[in-house]
Amino acid sequence: MFVKSRLGFSRRNLLIQMAAAPVIGAAALPALAQAPACTATAQAAQAALKDANGTKLILLGTAGGPVPGRTREMTSHVMLSNGAAYVLDCGLGCTDQYARTGIPFQKLRSIFITHHHPDHNIEYGPLLIVGWVQGMPLDVRTFGPPPLKQMTEDFMRAYKQTVDFWAEDFKMTPLVSVDVQEVSAAGPVMQDDNVKVSATVVNHPPVKPALGYRFDFKDRSIAFSGDTTPLEAVVKLAEGADLLVHEVMYVPAVEDYVRRQVAKGRPVNFDSFMAHMRADHSPVEDVGRTHSKRGSRHSYCRI
Ligand SMILES: [Zn+2]
Repeated sequence: MFVKSRLGFSRRNLLIQMAAAPVIGAAALPALAQAPACTATAQAAQAALKDANGTKLILLGTAGGPVPGRTREMTSHVMLSNGAAYVLDCGLGCTDQYARTGIPFQKLRSIFITHHHPDHNIEYGPLLIVGWVQGMPLDVRTFGPPPLKQMTEDFMRAYKQTVDFWAEDFKMTPLVSVDVQEVSAAGPVMQDDNVKVSATVVNHPPVKPALGYRFDFKDRSIAFSGDTTPLEAVVKLAEGADLLVHEVMYVPAVEDYVRRQVAKGRPVNFDSFMAHMRADHSPVEDVGRTHSKRGSRHSYCRI
């Protein structure tokens, strides 16, 4: 779910958010029952994109943590600008969600990863392979912290035969490698004819490095905190941006979740788990302060 910015949100932003609405049910029957809502959501998002002028951001997934079967997918976003698509993070469900936006895979130009927690990267490889079969350009570029290069090579090696089978089935040029650029420090990341991308290093132990990104398109700029504790570097990254997408943790809900896990007999220690969450993530009220400091127009929070 999203926490509305104190500055409010426009109908445009509301429409853009719809792509991230509930998709998957926990069992076959509820999933079927949800199908019409899912279709309506996808249609609404497609209509919003069809009539769109300028750069658009679609939140494909906003859920954090290793929990499948929820009403939201794991973290992923796509930005569409001047006919080119840029994906940021590849949590579970990102390929289906991308498809539901109606953005052709032919438009997918670059993929960015903030950090190597599975809820941000686990569908990176599948997105590449399914995207390739659906027309993703072979010169797609990917960016993220080390060891992204090794991870990509290992994945492509593991799936070489699978890719070759589809290449033969569909008479396609196989996807054999991907242009990977590793990012481990703050500063410029890449620039093309649509966008200038920069990164900052955020605080998300034990993951090092974990990154936040800023995308400066010709008509607007969008900053992403990635997963982090409240951080001055994120305030600086987002300074003057049109939009900041920030992670957020609603502490009472997390505490409630952990208590339920303990009650179920899971081997979880309440105090150490909450200490870990506080050392890793941003409580809602602190993100509000980040938003008020950064001097730009809108913020959305991932929970
Ligand atoms: Zn994380």
